[in-house]
Amino acid sequence: MTGTLPTVADVIQWWTSHGQEVPPENTPEWADMMLTFQQWHQPRNVLVQYKGGGYDGCFWEYNYAYFDADGEFHCIAATGYKGCETEEDLKEAWDKRPKDFSPIDLNEENWQTFQVEEATHHVLGLAKWFWQEQSIDLPITCTECGAVTPGAKMFGDNPHGCGGVAMTFNDLLCPNCAENEDDD
Ligand SMILES: [Zn+2]
Repeated sequence: MTGTLPTVADVIQWWTSHGQEVPPENTPEWADMMLTFQQWHQPRNVLVQYKGGGYDGCFWEYNYAYFDADGEFHCIAATGYKGCETEEDLKEAWDKRPKDFSPIDLNEENWQTFQVEEATHHVLGLAKWFWQEQSIDLPITCTECGAVTPGAKMFGDNPHGCGGVAMTFNDLLCPNCAENEDDD
């Protein structure tokens, strides 16, 4: 892949081919669409969250892939019939149904937002994957005491089912709080 930046015409053409109207240049909406196009076109340090296939009783669940700083593809979680295990599959699906894809530039601010908005078992699972596979520390804020802790050291607490086979947690605890919890 080359390092050339997309032209304005590329961006308009891509979005128009997906039935999206492109707002005037230099508006916030325009900037969003430009960014999304760039993330698709040449992803770098981008966590790709997308709708994978579902299990019985669920229509879909989020799957994850990661393009590292060199643009190399890593499959994190690909489940069900829409899961993409290869870069080719992912790029094709992303191009076909961009609205099912939420690329996230992996920086501190976006990871903070992700923690607040997404299911705890995804937050924990991703933090552990990034530490083990990429040596990247994604810190997690302890639900109990608020300590910002390396994500790989966190524990999920109060697990509960969420309809399908998936399990999620009410709380994400730092090692100290997890230990106190065990003492009760
Ligand atoms: Zn804690």
